[in-house]
Amino acid sequence: MLARRLPTVLPLLAPDESLETTRIYSALGRMPAGEALLAVRPFRSPHHTISDAGMVGGGNPPSPGEISLAHHGVLFLDELPEFHRKSLEVLRQPLEEGRVTIARALASVTFPASFVLIAAMNPCPCGYLGDARRTCKCGPLQIERYMGRISGPLLDRIDLHIEVPTVPFQELSAPADGTSSASMREQVQRARDVQQKRFGAGGRKLNAHMSSRQLRKFCATDVEGKSLLRTAMDELGLSARAHDRILRMARTIADLEGAADIQAAHLSEAIGYRSLDRKLWAR
Ligand SMILES: [Zn+2]
Repeated sequence: MLARRLPTVLPLLAPDESLETTRIYSALGRMPAGEALLAVRPFRSPHHTISDAGMVGGGNPPSPGEISLAHHGVLFLDELPEFHRKSLEVLRQPLEEGRVTIARALASVTFPASFVLIAAMNPCPCGYLGDARRTCKCGPLQIERYMGRISGPLLDRIDLHIEVPTVPFQELSAPADGTSSASMREQVQRARDVQQKRFGAGGRKLNAHMSSRQLRKFCATDVEGKSLLRTAMDELGLSARAHDRILRMARTIADLEGAADIQAAHLSEAIGYRSLDRKLWAR
């Protein structure tokens, strides 16, 4: 439910983005009847039985896969450990580069594939590990095997790991309150505007795409922040890639709050989103 709502809090699809995504859908004859241009960000949720070619594209001549259908939108993978390992490993290059290249003997083709990846998984095969009301029946070996289906390099490329506790029925059926999608979208747009100003007009560069030079320039931390980061690296055994991700994430949290500098609180929130690294290292 949360994943499906994400496109509604992302900034509205810009005309050039709409054109790019429309081109992919029309090439595949997948445009909704009566629509000339896609007006909303796509949301794709392929089943876990999908092949690696179905995921990133394939065939001869090559045609785009799910990640290109999710271009400028959201790709949602439910029950992540159930996917074929090969279908997940092929996501690594597109997640880094925002496009995918399919090599063939005579020519290779590149398709755009810039998407937000959301994945969901259970804490263990039965799903009740850590649940206050049901007992988990999985052994440590089963849990380890289940978690082990997601490779470290793939997890490393996922910015936020969040544990979502079971929601009691009363809360699900209670009248809605809290922040609306529209006001969240405004907040996201404000943070995007700050980033646009930071990286200069023209492109649509985001904090997530900062180079290491830009990281040093725009993600300076004070003494307290530096020591927090050092402790986290040592104690959680985080990779250099995770370190840079934490800095980019802290920059984004600060932007969402309208803060000019990254404060220790922003860093500690960003570190908190690496919970699966901790689990992997605890194994
Ligand atoms: Zn279990």
